[in-house]
Amino acid sequence: MRLVTVGTGTVALTPARVCAGHYVEAGSARILLDCGSGVAHRLAERKLPWREITHVAITHFHTDHIADFATLAFAWKYGSLPARTAPLVLVGPQGIGALFDRFVGVFGDWLRDPGFPLEVREIAPGDAVDLGEGATLRATKVPHTEESVAYSVERGGRRIVYTGDTGYDPMLAEWARGADVLLCECSLPVEMAIPSHLTPEQCGALAAAALPKHLVLTHFYPPVERVDIRALVGAHYAGPVTLADDGSTFEIEED
Ligand SMILES: [Zn+2]
Ligand SMILES: [Zn+2]
Repeated sequence: MRLVTVGTGTVALTPARVCAGHYVEAGSARILLDCGSGVAHRLAERKLPWREITHVAITHFHTDHIADFATLAFAWKYGSLPARTAPLVLVGPQGIGALFDRFVGVFGDWLRDPGFPLEVREIAPGDAVDLGEGATLRATKVPHTEESVAYSVERGGRRIVYTGDTGYDPMLAEWARGADVLLCECSLPVEMAIPSHLTPEQCGALAAAALPKHLVLTHFYPPVERVDIRALVGAHYAGPVTLADDGSTFEIEED
């Protein structure tokens, strides 16, 4: 599998980091985990095959995780020659269908029938979506908004876990246990801590409990970048840690 952290920022807009979006290749599946503002252009900028995305999986409905979905759909319809015909699956937690209907209300009926099959699939915590060729997407509930989920993508005995936005939760650590990559939000320094996001210390504690082979941090609000994230995480977790940038690439060799 391959993971590219396309957007590692938040709605605190900075030039270096666009909103949340992470691209995963697993077999023939091309999955975009979240699709916040700036992600569509970043895909093109990083020469990622945005026309070939097969699944968009949304963790929750905050704008910094969904705003570019309609841009991408419009690009698939009008921004590609020849226009897209391959099917697309939009996956999300409870309420994704209603959210999609609101997108249709705002952007127009073309979105429901964009010229290629577009399926909207609700995933309940504990459910799995077959991505084909032995790849699987799973979801679990996380404490952020009412609907929020974390995702895993598995293939060939390897597992990438993406927390989405979350507060600290030992159940999430348990669910993520032994992941090859734990892609973890790292929003705020401890001085600004809130229950719905993680501090570097909590990322370290989560990793100490989950023991991933590689901890990759994302979703940085600017104030957290002014503390020594690596040292704060390292006080809890001794394994390899990467502070992702927009465009960081991780190869996960399968069995
Ligand atoms: Zn959020
Ligand atoms: Zn967010």
